[in-house]
Amino acid sequence: MDRKNGKAEMNYKEAYDNGVCRLKEAGVEEAALDARLLLEHICHTNRNDLLVHGDRELGEEFCSAYFEGIARRESRVPLQYITGEQDFMGLTFEVNRHVLIPRQDTEILVEEVMRYLHDGMEVLDLCTGSGCILLSLLHYSNGCSGVGTDLSGEALAVAERNGRRLGGNYRFLQGDLFGDVDGLFDIIVSNPPYIPTGEIAGLMEEVRVYEPLMALDGKGDGLFFYRKIAAQAGKYLRGGGYLFFEIGCDQAEDVKNIMMREGFLEITVVRDFAGLDRVVYGWSPKMERKTDAAV
Ligand code: GLN
Repeated sequence: MDRKNGKAEMNYKEAYDNGVCRLKEAGVEEAALDARLLLEHICHTNRNDLLVHGDRELGEEFCSAYFEGIARRESRVPLQYITGEQDFMGLTFEVNRHVLIPRQDTEILVEEVMRYLHDGMEVLDLCTGSGCILLSLLHYSNGCSGVGTDLSGEALAVAERNGRRLGGNYRFLQGDLFGDVDGLFDIIVSNPPYIPTGEIAGLMEEVRVYEPLMALDGKGDGLFFYRKIAAQAGKYLRGGGYLFFEIGCDQAEDVKNIMMREGFLEITVVRDFAGLDRVVYGWSPKMERKTDAAV
């Protein structure tokens, strides 16, 4: 077999070097990292193997699976859609092309919600995608339950599989934002699509071509879903309940104003580790129906 095609007997380190080289030539930003993670995923190895066992023969099956992955990454398929998984909040989530790949930025949102999430609370996660937000919250809390909704049935199939693996008291519902949701919640959280339509064409190829447009496109000025969710959230929140949003880094002022107009109080902006505005939240003063009737 021909070594140059990467199909010949090769040791672990040679396969890695060859992969890095090809990804670099293809202009992939994190060539070395992606080649290593792909190799580790295929061979069920870890970082140590490259340092200590680099001279081990790779074997034909692993070799061809690895170089098949390298070829897909060369054509800009995101690494996570090749490996089929992404770590988020210390948990591993299945992903495919029907769901947005969970981002590190979104961990800020989850951590912020966790500060307000107490035992036994009920959470609603709108635009749940892979289910990463809701399932993480349930995993790291006691006796909480939650509903996740998404317009995409294909996304919900991924969320369901993640839920089965990670556990928790969850329900996933297909629908347009609040759709068929009923009942009241203590916390509503959402990382909705928030990229202004006109900016989609300028995104990197991995995102623009491969991630679901539906999970990215915030319609028009990018604020469509914030307006819609903020307008309806009060109906689904218990008095004093919180609404949390992830936002694009230049949307804090707009989203704050939207929430203010809808009557939310103590609206707060939280920055991510890069110092960029990333989360906006506030609470609803709405009285519960029972109290209203008594007045
Ligand atoms: N809630 C999912 C996430 O944060 C999906 C978000 C989306 O599709 N916009 O990853």
